[in-house]
Amino acid sequence: MKSKVYTLIYYYLLFLIPFFSFAEIKNTNNTDWPLEMNSSKNFDIASKCEMLVFIEVFNEYVALSKSDLSLKTKVKNIKEQSVNTWVNETKKRILVNFKRLSNASLLEVISVKKGSSWEMLSRINVKEKLPNNFTIWYEATKKFYRDYVKEQIRLAALYPRVTSEILQFSENEIQGDNFTDKNFLLTFDDGPTKVNGNTDKLIKVLDKYELTGMFFVLGESLEKRLKSSSKKALNNLYKQNKVFSHGKVHKSHQRYSLWKTSIDDTNKLIHDIFPTENKSELLYFRPPYGQRNKALVSYFDSQESKIIYWNIDSRDWSSKLNAQQVANRQIKLMLLWRKGILLFHDIHRKSQKSVPLIYNYFKGVNINWKASNMVFK
Ligand SMILES: [Zn+2]
Repeated sequence: MKSKVYTLIYYYLLFLIPFFSFAEIKNTNNTDWPLEMNSSKNFDIASKCEMLVFIEVFNEYVALSKSDLSLKTKVKNIKEQSVNTWVNETKKRILVNFKRLSNASLLEVISVKKGSSWEMLSRINVKEKLPNNFTIWYEATKKFYRDYVKEQIRLAALYPRVTSEILQFSENEIQGDNFTDKNFLLTFDDGPTKVNGNTDKLIKVLDKYELTGMFFVLGESLEKRLKSSSKKALNNLYKQNKVFSHGKVHKSHQRYSLWKTSIDDTNKLIHDIFPTENKSELLYFRPPYGQRNKALVSYFDSQESKIIYWNIDSRDWSSKLNAQQVANRQIKLMLLWRKGILLFHDIHRKSQKSVPLIYNYFKGVNINWKASNMVFK
């Protein structure tokens, strides 16, 4: 009888273990990276290793023939010129980021010579050089970049037939790669939601961590919200956060005949609700899906206003990623790009969890979360 009870307890515990370990995983904010994120040096070591794996995968894709690339990305008519532009710009960005690494960090985990060229960095056999306890991280990271580089090169292959954040027509289009090293900006799209919905909940989370963000709202959703919230209530809701335009409706603005009305109407509405110090008649604009046309860009150029994209895309809309996975993705991309604009969607619940996970992960490192009232130059 006694042994039966023990057997039962044994099976009961066995049953519970996965739940405990699951809870533990959920509470840690890390990928499989074996080192602590507790100093600038460790930020740089992690950043260096992310870049090295990225370079390996990047080179795999660049070496593909046009037809193989076409198969991989499922793009029939690859725009070679766009792909080449993206390839060259990406190489430049990575090399600039390598220059930002501290001397001390260059020697750790995998030793990299200061001032290494792209060719020198490409010759490093990362898997061979990494200590054994980095293997799990390496395999996961390799897989991550195989997906990520495919995603990026696909956007480049489609541009400008399908426009996106990947490449720009004008210098007044901001992607975030021109920020100072270790500077990051939070942005949230597609809101506002209804009263006490996800937008309200997210802003409470941001308040708690003393963070602010830029909210690119839909004119239509703002109008709807105005029916149940006064102008004053909306100002109280967004507080220190800034509200800008994502267009009137969530529609690609590339082949949209009403793009100008969409921008003007939404700006008028935002100006009306949020009296702004911004003298510029046009507010910052983020086109839905990053899709726009040259005429739209010229419209902003002529007003010296900016179109704001992102370089650190959370994909928080994807049902394949939970909040922890969204946070891990952003953490890896922040280490890779070292600066820039993070994209989330306040209409989804995930950002309420992902943002604190990211914030806490980098808490011991001196990165700078830019205030939402920053001015793009
Ligand atoms: Zn959107």
